[in-house]
Amino acid sequence: MQSIIRGKYVITRALDRHGWEQIEDGAVLQKDGVIAAIGRFEDLARQNPETSVIGTGNEVLLPGFVNGHHHVGLTPLQLGSPDMPLELWFATRMVTRDVDLYLDTLYSAFEMIASGITTVQHIHGWMPGRLPEVEASADQVIAAYEAIGMRVSYCFALRDQNHLVYESNEDFLARVPDDVKPLLAKYFDRFQLGAEEAIELFGHLHGKHQAKERVKIQLAPANLHWCSDRALEMLAETSERYDAPLHMHLVETAYQKEYARRRGGGTALDYIARFGLLGPKLTLGHGVWLSEGDIERIAETGTCICHNCSSNFRLRSGVAPLNRFEAKGINVAIGIDEAGINDDRDMLQEMRMVLRAHREPGMDDSVPTPAQVFRMATEGGAMTTPYGSTLGRLEVGRGADMVLIDWRQVSYPYLDREVPVLDAVIQRAKTEGVNTVMVAGEVVYQGGRFTKVDRDAALGQISDLLSRELSESEKDRRRLSKAVLPHMRAFYEGYIDPEGHVPFYRQSARF
Ligand SMILES: [Zn+2]
Repeated sequence: MQSIIRGKYVITRALDRHGWEQIEDGAVLQKDGVIAAIGRFEDLARQNPETSVIGTGNEVLLPGFVNGHHHVGLTPLQLGSPDMPLELWFATRMVTRDVDLYLDTLYSAFEMIASGITTVQHIHGWMPGRLPEVEASADQVIAAYEAIGMRVSYCFALRDQNHLVYESNEDFLARVPDDVKPLLAKYFDRFQLGAEEAIELFGHLHGKHQAKERVKIQLAPANLHWCSDRALEMLAETSERYDAPLHMHLVETAYQKEYARRRGGGTALDYIARFGLLGPKLTLGHGVWLSEGDIERIAETGTCICHNCSSNFRLRSGVAPLNRFEAKGINVAIGIDEAGINDDRDMLQEMRMVLRAHREPGMDDSVPTPAQVFRMATEGGAMTTPYGSTLGRLEVGRGADMVLIDWRQVSYPYLDREVPVLDAVIQRAKTEGVNTVMVAGEVVYQGGRFTKVDRDAALGQISDLLSRELSESEKDRRRLSKAVLPHMRAFYEGYIDPEGHVPFYRQSARF
């Protein structure tokens, strides 16, 4: 199976902060899902006369985007959970309804693919039950990605302690009034998968899926406060044994920075370094509150960071020091996390967020450029998944994951000829301009239609399923969410400083 994908402009990869490789009237030849040649359309078409051509020659052809950090389908807001400071959001998140995981996964996959995302890091968490139930849930999520044709790096987030606040479940249970205790205890009982079983789950999933072209399995320590020392040891050992990457939320908020200080006397990064976790196989999600010393150490060890820009705004986590990460040459991915600023999963929008959110005052050349943001959204993201350097660029030998964006949407009715193509795409491309999305040589989306799954039917099913009355368990969680919130708030009172002030912007170490 081979095809030629043509573009008025073919952008193959970023070269540096201001440069990228661009071919005018170019094309890519893919054979069996792998890029076999790149060059001028005229030449490739002449050399391969029988080969079908995708694209009209009026589009921009780019590598497919990688969403480096994703969790759920329908957004928390859609399911009744408003944005809150992260630590309190864990209470309002309880109200989210029980969903059909297959349909739920399709829901966000529709949004991702329609914005040009071809690979997702799906960090699954909060699945009730023991190993058989959690494994069945994982298989439903993976099956949805396989059905729609998207590439997934799946990981189940290991949490074996401190499920609701930054202390043990028992200690927090002791803090709440007697009438709240039974509901809270019942809630804690839902999440029974311990570290041993979570590792066993990884083994099962790895065995079943790792050999597949579009599915890979990796590890996810959920966050420092959620992992016991024993869990961190087991994760490090398992990563070593399977050569499996890990993705870990770390210092998303100032409260987490303080938690690490209380637990280990240093930074969160210092703590996980004791387990040998730092290195190119580890990606840190968020990293908003890393210290200068941490950033140095991340750069030295080749550890990666996933920047979740919209999420950091929505949950009041702060502004990550992205310009410092970039100046140090750290590999950065972009993650849309629960949902972006428009409450959806739109990578074109998220790239603009990343481009704009770090424009520190001044005239020096230190703020994100379109080429940098493009790199983060493509090969930067790929490097944080098990696919690594097999994706992320249009390069011979890499996977044929591509997006065609209508140049007319970007440039009509007028665009000055001196505006560089990539600058225009990053700043002006919208999802309605996404014409065609290809994964492993297969067109999965074209002209607003998914080729393998019926979007209207899936949305109709979701609507029908969620129009039912709340179940008893859903009602219990709503009651608990309201009852427990003031006690969570009380737990964090004075946690950082007596007035609860959190310094907000720490983008730059210079001021
Ligand atoms: Zn997350």
